[in-house]
Amino acid sequence: MTSSLLLGLIGDGISASRTPRMHENEGAAHSIPTIYRTIDISNPRLAEVGLEELLTGAVRLGFDGLNITHPFKQQVIGLLDEVDPVAARINSVNTVVIDSTGRTTGFNTDVTGFAAGFRAGLDGAATEAVVQIGAGGAGRAVGFALAELGIGELIIADTDVRRAEGLAADIVEATPVGTRAKAIGLDELEGAAASAQGIVNATPVGMKAYPGTPVDTSVIGSDTWVADVVYFPLETQLLAEARAKGCRTLDGSGMAVNQAIDAFELFSGQKADPQRMRETFLSF
Ligand code: NAD
Repeated sequence: MTSSLLLGLIGDGISASRTPRMHENEGAAHSIPTIYRTIDISNPRLAEVGLEELLTGAVRLGFDGLNITHPFKQQVIGLLDEVDPVAARINSVNTVVIDSTGRTTGFNTDVTGFAAGFRAGLDGAATEAVVQIGAGGAGRAVGFALAELGIGELIIADTDVRRAEGLAADIVEATPVGTRAKAIGLDELEGAAASAQGIVNATPVGMKAYPGTPVDTSVIGSDTWVADVVYFPLETQLLAEARAKGCRTLDGSGMAVNQAIDAFELFSGQKADPQRMRETFLSF
């Protein structure tokens, strides 16, 4: 069994991340002393340092694993010894396991994390047609997770239409058993939201800095489920308005906690306690 864990998160502007505490508390509960550092490129000390140098440094210093976030989830792939097939298919890695020889393997636990959160929070929800708003970093993981969950048709809208088209094409290409996916313009969003069975927000709209809702909720019926990946705040305006209509809702904590659960299990080889990790996440 792993006797201790040295872990880190590489990304930009990550000082408020709740992930370090989730890993350190879970490690302690398994009697595995765990240190989890944020390696934030917005720190002036790291101004001239590239991802390759940070990754090589972590391997040389004996790190056991890393989480990777914006803006490096795609760039890191070319620097790894091996990439898990799911992460390779979506072309995004958020978790790197470093073995005792320094060999690096990349995974994507955002995909497995969103899927696990969905199964737990929206079990049995109808998924023939789902509208996803936002096709950026989180949106890629959500789109591939929805495809793996077996939805019929994914309708993707993004202010950057080409990004939505790119994600739709990637999902169609990577999903042999045929999730249909297509991009729509924002002018078609309300109509699509009115007839979909589910809506997922994967944009930052709903955060304090981006107030409002990504779609006019007056078009959403009470039998439509609504999910949000934003977790700061957990109760976004979108979810509050959907809940007031009687819709089933799923907040961003499911994805955030489950990506950490899956990463902890990859780092430690131990089964994480979902309830404990959730409580740590909510204790901030
Ligand atoms: P990003 O910048 O990579 O992508 C956001 C996408 O949304 C962009 O493609 C942008 O064009 C699009 N967009 C923005 N406003 C829009 C609007 N009004 N209508 C349509 N499209 C719009 O950002 P990201 O990394 O994907 O993060 C998005 C949100 O997800 C953030 O709030 C982040 O905190 C959250 N997030 C949550 C989790 C989790 O575990 N719950 C994980 C990652 C990110």
